[in-house]
Amino acid sequence: MSANEAVKTWLAAFEKALGSGDPAAVSKLFGEESYWRDLVAFTWNIKTVEGAEGVEDLVRNTAAHTKASNFRLDGDASEADGVTEGWFTFETGVARGYGLVRLRDGKAWTLLTTMVELKGHEEKAGFTRPLGAKHGHGVGTKSWREERDEELATLGHTKQPYCVIIGGGQGGIALGARLKQLGVPTIIVEKNERPGDSWRKRYKSLCLHDPVWYDHLPYIDFPKNWPVFSPKDKIGDWLEMYTRVMELNYWASTEALSAKYDEQAKEWAVVVRRDGKEITLRPKQLVFATGMSGKANVPQFRGMEKFQGDQHHSSQHPARTSTRARRRSSSARTTPPTISPPRSGKLART
Ligand SMILES: Cc1cc2nc3c(=O)[nH]c(=O)nc-3n(C[C@H](O)[C@H](O)[C@H](O)COP(=O)(O)OP(=O)(O)OC[C@H]3O[C@@H](n4cnc5c(N)ncnc54)[C@H](O)[C@@H]3O)c2cc1C
Repeated sequence: MSANEAVKTWLAAFEKALGSGDPAAVSKLFGEESYWRDLVAFTWNIKTVEGAEGVEDLVRNTAAHTKASNFRLDGDASEADGVTEGWFTFETGVARGYGLVRLRDGKAWTLLTTMVELKGHEEKAGFTRPLGAKHGHGVGTKSWREERDEELATLGHTKQPYCVIIGGGQGGIALGARLKQLGVPTIIVEKNERPGDSWRKRYKSLCLHDPVWYDHLPYIDFPKNWPVFSPKDKIGDWLEMYTRVMELNYWASTEALSAKYDEQAKEWAVVVRRDGKEITLRPKQLVFATGMSGKANVPQFRGMEKFQGDQHHSSQHPARTSTRARRRSSSARTTPPTISPPRSGKLART
């Protein structure tokens, strides 16, 4: 059987089993060692289940109301080292999805299902992008500039945003761009002075750890002439430019101080400090995009009090000013403490 036929056969059997209402019929299509990762499409969450038990549990709790159907191979499947893999599209009752299945001996080894868009809320892009020009409109029609200035002046003051995102690093910025595209009034609050500062403030020699083509934000890819591992300040400037051209309502130098949900009003009260003034925003939705590894985690360990050299967390790592060898952590992503040896070059023993 060709790779294409193998994936098509599996997808057809998967769709039929999902519709049968029998979780065991679905789990029989998975190998003994198997993983199903769902991004929102079935679970409205980020969820990975393992093996027959996990698959049956996921199906039991989601299949009936998800109504997944129309599974279609997208492009050609491929086969290498006993693994056949193919991308596919599918639908649920309310959304369109995209996925990847990898088969071993005809059974799923890994399955990925992701939600791409909600039906009826498709992003206006490509052929459906807004026209922009307003030909034939009467005197008093507002220009783009006037509309944008009005939005900046009113949102968060006389008009409440539907959504507030706390944290304007790349996560908050990317989500803000998506929400803007979907027409959801959103404010991003960021305690740093400028978009991109969360990169600028890292140590001097930092470049991306991943090739730049793995790091694109929605709608605008990084330029094709950019370095593979782009320097951190360049990324910071890109984020600042992106925030501006995506027309995000980005409140820099603004710290979120507290957030409380009002059950009666069904909205959040988010207190922020902006230009030294406290403002309460009242969005229906609140997103924490404050980063999961941004906070310094400084472990205590035996003997550290006797060590004579510098000890600092990687977030405080100074720019290298001399060629004298310094020992520091190879990766700040895991935010380890950084230890530089004393002048003797020896670590104190305990
Ligand atoms: C050394 C290093 C190399 C990396 N290389 C890559 C790479 O090559 N490719 C890649 O994709 N990723 C890379 N990463 C990971 C990437 O930087 C993070 O995944 C990313 O920054 C996470 O984005 P975020 O928006 O979730 O959080 P952050 O970028 O940490 O942003 C969180 C923001 O929340 C703000 N904030 C926090 N609390 C508040 C508050 N109360 N009020 C207002 N604002 C607040 C912070 O100031 C911050 O700007 C690297 C990370 C490090 C450390």
